[in-house]
Amino acid sequence: MPLERTYANNRILVTGGAGFIGSHLCEKLLAEGAEVICVDNYFTGSRRNIAHLLSNPLFEAMRHDVTFPLYVEVDAIFNLACPASPIHYQRDPVQTTKTSVHGAINMLGLAKRLGARIFQASTSEVYGDPLVHPQPEEYWGNVNPIGIRSCYDEGKRCAETLFFDYWRQHQLPIKVARIFNTYGPRMQPGDGRVVSSFIVQALKGDPITVFGDGRQTRSFCYVDDLVEAIAKLMLTDETVTGPINVGNSSEFTIRELAEKIIKFTDSRSQLVFKPSPEDDPKQRRPELAKAKALLDWEPKVALDEGLKETIAYFRRTLELI
Ligand code: NAD
Ligand code: UDP
Ligand code: UDP
Repeated sequence: MPLERTYANNRILVTGGAGFIGSHLCEKLLAEGAEVICVDNYFTGSRRNIAHLLSNPLFEAMRHDVTFPLYVEVDAIFNLACPASPIHYQRDPVQTTKTSVHGAINMLGLAKRLGARIFQASTSEVYGDPLVHPQPEEYWGNVNPIGIRSCYDEGKRCAETLFFDYWRQHQLPIKVARIFNTYGPRMQPGDGRVVSSFIVQALKGDPITVFGDGRQTRSFCYVDDLVEAIAKLMLTDETVTGPINVGNSSEFTIRELAEKIIKFTDSRSQLVFKPSPEDDPKQRRPELAKAKALLDWEPKVALDEGLKETIAYFRRTLELI
């Protein structure tokens, strides 16, 4: 079944489908009438994230590591497998690069054999600590190739190279999105990312750990908006390859984020300032003109609203732990 304007009756592979973004994407694709094969090695994902989908006959969960070849028959592939939070991707940096690079080669080989469309979850980290602000897709980035973030940043950059070489060399229909900081329900409480960390600290009344002076910025996208964008990107015509920035262009300092979370949780937590991690980007905001024009999409959920949803999720989750 050719993938044109609809997912209905198509079989879609989602690698990293038991992760934070992947589990929301699986849900969305099922709701659009697709059959979904979710591949995950559960390194940072969790079976709890997809437990509610397991009884759906159109959903299949498969334990597999994408650094090994995979033989399945599908119409399209979303390649999301890769740890995304700094503490997770730095835990086993060699495996992180292998997942990005060998994982991309295997999924591209699979797509090539099948003639299937393939989406790559790339990242704003390809811009490194950017010297151009906001970041347009044309910017080549400012990335340290040998630092502690390099396994992730350079792994994702090499994956982009592979995608564009398969497109040039084998005419593979590719879709590359550069995802900016995304948050929402099903982030892991202990993953060290700023939104989940601050919310958990605020709910527990623990000190809020601001790295550096808290004046560094990020632009936060709610997961529903992000999933909407990448689901639309896969259905664009074959001339659209990306890379396309997806995220939210409302930019906040980390200190502002901390203050919002304290307010929305009604917490007594105080800010404590810790040293800045190595190579921590100072500013980040997507230029979204391409996404708006090509996808007829823009993010709808404001940070305040998204934080309230996410806080409600963490309140429920922490009670269970
Ligand atoms: P996540 O860690 O929750 O999800 C990643 C999933 O990939 C997990 O379920 C993990 O178990 C799985 N995985 C890791 N290595 C694997 C392997 N070798 N084989 C099979 N599965 C493997 O992270 P997320 O935030 O949902 O990120 C999903 C994708 O989006 C990642 O590729 C990430 O780089 C990208 N991304 C995320 C953000 C963000 O802000 N969340 C920003 C930019 C890019
Ligand atoms: N591959 C896979 N599933 C497939 C087809 C290929 O996992 O259905 C893997 C295969 O193991 C190979 C990689 O994808 O290592 C790249 O495949 P490609 O055909 O591009 O290269 P080649 O096999 O010629 O090295
Ligand atoms: N950060 C922080 N305290 C934390 C976790 C993160 O101040 O407990 C900061 C971090 O230094 C960075 C920003 O928040 O400047 C976003 O960090 P995150 O790891 O969520 O994402 P990334 O750096 O990959 O954008």
